[in-house]
This record gives sequence, structure tokens and C-alpha cells, in this order.
Amino acid sequence: MQTVTLPLSPQQQSDLGTARPLFWANPQRSEDAAVATVVEGRGISLADVRGAQARFQRFAPLLAQLFPELQAEAGRIESALVAVPDMQRALEIPSSQGSLWIKADHSLPVAGSIKARGGIHEVLEFAESLALEHGLVTLDDDYSVLAEAPARALFSRYQVAVGSTGNLGLSIGVMASALGFRAAVHMSADAKEWKKARLRARGVEVVEHTGDYASAVAAGRRNADADPYCYFVDDERSLSLMLGYSAAALHLQAQLEAAGLRVDASHPLFVYLPCGVGGAPAGIAFGLRQLYGPHVHPIFAEPTQSPCFLVEMLAPGASVYDVGLTNRTEADGLAVPQASELAAQAMRPLLAGVYTVPDDRLFADLHRLRETEGMRIEPSAAAGFSGPGMLLGTDAGRAYLKQHKLEALMPDATHLVWTTGGLFVPPEEYARFAERGAALAA
Ligand SMILES: *Cc1c(COP(=O)(O)O)cnc(C)c1O
Repeated sequence: MQTVTLPLSPQQQSDLGTARPLFWANPQRSEDAAVATVVEGRGISLADVRGAQARFQRFAPLLAQLFPELQAEAGRIESALVAVPDMQRALEIPSSQGSLWIKADHSLPVAGSIKARGGIHEVLEFAESLALEHGLVTLDDDYSVLAEAPARALFSRYQVAVGSTGNLGLSIGVMASALGFRAAVHMSADAKEWKKARLRARGVEVVEHTGDYASAVAAGRRNADADPYCYFVDDERSLSLMLGYSAAALHLQAQLEAAGLRVDASHPLFVYLPCGVGGAPAGIAFGLRQLYGPHVHPIFAEPTQSPCFLVEMLAPGASVYDVGLTNRTEADGLAVPQASELAAQAMRPLLAGVYTVPDDRLFADLHRLRETEGMRIEPSAAAGFSGPGMLLGTDAGRAYLKQHKLEALMPDATHLVWTTGGLFVPPEEYARFAERGAALAA
């Protein structure tokens, strides 16, 4: 039952409550190039984005040593920027409305999803703070020494813990155990079997919770607060996670330049980001706004049954249950009932809008992407593909373009869909996803 009234049009209100797709434009979006962003009382800026990027660079030699799959990239965890003209045709987005590109985080090594950015960053930041404190490295050293006995002895005294139904657990668990930490991932009992198996194979302790998962995670958090040798990664209020994600913006900037794609007053960039709790898309949107100001338009994509970020923007503190929705979706990376307040706070002046996607559309687009470009993604990662259609084809989307005087610029627009996961989905599971999509397309 709906218990919260939201500032939406009657049509949007009805679409939200009955789980039909809708587009919402953020009325609080600022046009200023430099918007001060304050999260939990701390101002963050481009310097913090660069700080996260520099941390990844300091660790790169160590990561190349710990993960054979990173050797060719010299320890850098990054993904490609790819033009997808065939997918653009399949989605019937006319070239008069811009060109469609993908940021291929579905193929990010080590974690297999966008969580490789935030989750790994936070583990590295914790490891670095310990190593600096114990005099094992200075900021200018080659961090390869952290693979040696003294550092491993130090790290093994600490546990890194996280509550996650999936991809965040994978990224934190794998990186923490590779560095020599004890790692524990709290999961709900319905988490995917292959994710649990993958973690256990890496020596990560998987703690399964059958009862109320949220309260189990809260207990894990309290436990960690009481134990100085336990570090808990908190998806809902971690600045380190968010800044880890934000570093993607700097790499993307170089890729856009290399591809000859301009982003300025006459070349708008629309970025479609699948959103769960909000940390990943908010981090990236924050980073991009530092670089491109109002010329980048970050748009979040959520399942019609789990639009927690939209609800948080409209009614702070409310969950999707409060508006009569179920939070049931096959997009397990996005199945979150309540958004991160920290992420929502950061996004209030920066976000262009949010739209929702029904599960069938996720599977149809997953199938289309395989047919047209041969790319394998998971359902959550397909949420971005309906973005251009929602922007161009809904009243609220068109009103946004009109209000910001973007209509005449659309032939020179770039639509960037962030594909957020898929690399490690087992083939049998992927085959089921693709079949479901193919049946919908037939
Ligand atoms: C976690 C995740 C997201 C969204 O990230 P949040 O920080 O939860 O908003 C999107 N796609 C995939 C595949 C994910 O695992």
C-alpha cells in the first residue's frame, strides 16, 4: 500500500505505483559549472577524484603481480569505450538524435563488474593506511613490497567484512583476500550460488543469513565497530567507495578525446547509469560533473519495482515499499529497497534525471546486445539501453531537452550506456537470460 505522496505528476505517480516505466527530470539540477558537493559534512572536489586515481596508480605494480589477468594492462583495472552502431539501429535511435556508445564495465577484470572500481578502491585505501601507519611504504614507493612477508603478516591480523548479495561482495572479497586480509562476506541465503562458490574458492568466508538480511548486515556492522581488527565496508555510507567510482571519469575523459568525441556547450553527453543503492552511479556522475559541468547529463536507470534512488530524491528516507512496490526484480545488482543518503545528497544538484525499466525490457536488451555486438552482460547491466528512448520518447524527457535547449544539439549528442556487469556470469546462467530475451523479441 502506498503511504507516501510524492511530488510527481498524476501520470508519473500512477506509473511509479503500478510499476510502469517512467522518466523523471530532476528539478533541483544546477547549471553551474562548479557546484560545491558536500557529503556528510565534508566538501569533495576534483582533487578527491584525482586522489582516488593516484591511489589506483600507486597500487598498479602490486596488482599486476597479484592478478595475472592485469599484467598486460600493467595493473590497471579499466574498460573500453566502444561505439555500438548496430545496437543503435536495433534500438531504433535515429542518428539525428546522436550516437550510441558503451562504457564496457561488464568486462572489468578481477571483479567482473563496476564494483571493481569502488569496492577495490576502498580495500586499497584501507591497506594503504595500515601500510603507511606501520612504515612499510611511503607514498612514493613501489607498492610491490606489500606482496612480501611483513605486509602480509600485518594484513592477516585484520578482517575486511562487507554485507552484499553479490557483486560488491565479489570485489571486496577477492581483493581483500589477495592482499592477505581475512575476508568475510555477509550474504542473504538467496544470493547466487556461483558467487558464493567463487568467493569460497578464493579463501573468503561466506556468511549466509536466512532471516532478515538487513538486520544481519547491521549486526555485522556493529560487530566491526566494536573490533579494531575488523574493517566493515558500508555500501550505504562510504565516501571511499564513491570516490573509487569517480576515478572512472578521468579515464573516460581520455577515452572520449581519443575517440574524437567532444563534450561542451554544443556537444551534450548523456550518460545512462544502472543504479542500485546509488554509490556507483553517483560517484561516476560526480566525477563527470567535475570535468564537464552542465554539459554532461547523468541519468540513472532503475527497475520498475526497485526505484529506490528516485524515491529517495522525492521523499528522503522513504523506501520502495513505502510507495507500494515489491523490490522484486531479476536485476540483482539493482534490487535495493532503500538508496544511499550520501549518494542522494551528492546528486541533488548534479543529476539530470531517473527512469525506470521493467524486467522484460532488460532481457530484451541483453539479447539485442548479444545479437548486434556479441557482448555478454547481466540483466542489471542492460538497464541503460532504454535510456535514450525514455529521454527522447516521454513527455518528461522531451520537456527536459526543451528546458535545457538541447533539442537542436541532438545530432551532435553522445549517448553513453554504462554496461555494469557480466564477465563472470556462468555460461548456463547467461544462456537462460539470453533465451528469455530472445523469446521476448520473437
Ligand atoms: C552494484 C551494481 C550496480 C549499481 O551500483 P550501486 O552502487 O548499488 O548503485 C549496477 N550494476 C551492477 C551490475 C551492479 O553490480
